[in-house]
Amino acid sequence: MSILVVGSVAFDSVETPFGKAEEVLGGSGTYFSTSASFFTDVNLVAVVGEDFPQKHIDFLCERNVDLRGLTTAPGKTFRWSGEYGYDLNEAKTLDTQLNVFADFCPELPEAYLDAEYVFLANIDPELQLEVLKQVVRPKVVACDTMNFWIEGKRDALINTLKYVDILLINDAEVRQLANEANMVKAARKVLTMGPKTLVVKRGEYGATMFTEHGIFVAPAYPLESIYDPTGAGDTFAGGFMGYLATVDDNSEAAMRQAIIFGSIMASFNVEAFSLDRMRTLSFSEVQERFRKFQLLTEFNGID
Ligand code: AMP
Repeated sequence: MSILVVGSVAFDSVETPFGKAEEVLGGSGTYFSTSASFFTDVNLVAVVGEDFPQKHIDFLCERNVDLRGLTTAPGKTFRWSGEYGYDLNEAKTLDTQLNVFADFCPELPEAYLDAEYVFLANIDPELQLEVLKQVVRPKVVACDTMNFWIEGKRDALINTLKYVDILLINDAEVRQLANEANMVKAARKVLTMGPKTLVVKRGEYGATMFTEHGIFVAPAYPLESIYDPTGAGDTFAGGFMGYLATVDDNSEAAMRQAIIFGSIMASFNVEAFSLDRMRTLSFSEVQERFRKFQLLTEFNGID
């Protein structure tokens, strides 16, 4: 199955304790599409400005991302800048410029309307719903968001969440959305807002999935060199949804497997700035890391 995604395509400026990158390729839609493209076909809905260079379009085309839903509008491309301290788990946003996204009214290409797997990557929740409403019969709808929208467009976000099956956000965002400090209580509250599954991304501490059946916990792949965590969440979501769409299964067991693929894709992405690690990554490296990942949590039961 292919995946339809709406999200940002951006220029990012990022500073971490290990280096700096100015106006490099970024955006939630970009990271998600690139990661999911290792698993299945991806149809991207987004907008860029006239300043967006052909080389970035070429990169997405090389990854086989369908760009019929990518519009070029008069004006400037979305820009985000952020920095990280030694604790690379949370980005501090320095600046967000919506630019062409401020007035974007997407009309989905005919070929996208019967999408079964839909990912609403981090972008204005009104825009997420606008895209979702055009899809005829989605089978699995997953969604991401961030503090910028939880604070700035809370009501619209709560409305979008009513139509979402799986929400993937980080731990601080869960607490903020639920207005609750305890993670288990906060997760339970979020599960009353629409999504039946909540995947909490916890950076270097892994990911936790909450469903009506219980809790599943996965570690993050331990890495010696992390250069830039930007896009880790979107890359995680790309691996997660990419796997689900490939096996066309959203059972609890498939979602557990998908979390491992998400963690693996994110672990590669943080090894370099922007999407640079994705440029050289091969699927056999993904499979090799999957096997190593399995050994991380293998232990004997008790009689
Ligand atoms: P992540 O590190 O996975 O949470 O996502 C980082 C990406 O999200 C960056 O490439 C940014 O361009 C993009 N981003 C940051 N803020 C926003 C926002 N308010 N709306 C949409 N995308 C954003």
